Amino acid sequence: MTYEQIPVTMLASGRELFLPLHRLEGRAAGPTLGLSAVVHGDEPLTNEIVRRVLTSIDPAELRGTILAVPVANPLAFEALTRHTPIDQLDMNRNFPGSPSGWLSEQIAHVLATKFVAQLDVHVDLHTGGIFPTVDYVYIFDRSRELSLAFGSSFLFEPSQPYQGTFAVPAAQKGIPFFTAEVGGGSFLDAHYIEHGVRGVMNVLRQLKMIDGDVVRPAAQTIVTDMAVIRPRVGGVLYPEVGLDMLGKEVAGGTLLGRVVSPFTFETLEEIRAPYDRGVMILLRGAMMRVHPGDYGYMVANLATARPA
Ligand SMILES: [Zn+2]
Repeated sequence: MTYEQIPVTMLASGRELFLPLHRLEGRAAGPTLGLSAVVHGDEPLTNEIVRRVLTSIDPAELRGTILAVPVANPLAFEALTRHTPIDQLDMNRNFPGSPSGWLSEQIAHVLATKFVAQLDVHVDLHTGGIFPTVDYVYIFDRSRELSLAFGSSFLFEPSQPYQGTFAVPAAQKGIPFFTAEVGGGSFLDAHYIEHGVRGVMNVLRQLKMIDGDVVRPAAQTIVTDMAVIRPRVGGVLYPEVGLDMLGKEVAGGTLLGRVVSPFTFETLEEIRAPYDRGVMILLRGAMMRVHPGDYGYMVANLATARPA
């Protein structure tokens, strides 16, 4: 395995900004799989998934190459924030980037031209962030089999995907890409690290880069309608459903959480399940401060669900 630093620019502090790149070359020929982590700086669990994947594969048993960027946004990681502190942008809405754009766009451009340009397949790893915990993968036409192979119970096929994500350079190149959302929230980290590692190994098996059978859950469900529920007010969010409800069905109107004023202790907002039959995709494992507009909950609409 080799380690390189891809130069990006020099910061005002005089420090060089670079991106870390690991290259694990197999003994036999095969495709080049890209793994990226910590595109959002508050998702460190994805870094550990990459580390474990790289250290658990014997190059003698690998066909092709794994290229991994374990920290795609080092400045956001340093601050443990979703956005890049210097320009306040979400890099994952600013692909394919630009060499003359904002700093986040410059980093995105380097990722597109120096990393994705080398790939045949790209998997981008995410979590729910510091407080929310999440469990699903995106599914797109070009990556259908790989998304399924990752082995999550729920797959999201959005009719209107977010613009400017890391999917853009892969789409421009015409290679399969998907985003996996695993864990976060600092609860059940061991469980979700294992889930993420198993998912990437399954993708490697699906691509015939390593031997072995893809291990998938008995049932996988594709959903096309997902509510992102953002608190309208800030305060302390008290969850009313536990982490054990992740991936479970929830009836319309069920109280998911309450936003309480830390000053008066009044309940300022009650957050309720939006669909007659929904399934919990993202939730919060404990009480914590929320901002208005944060990712509060995600609930998928089972009326639009179909078996994978
Ligand atoms: Zn993310």
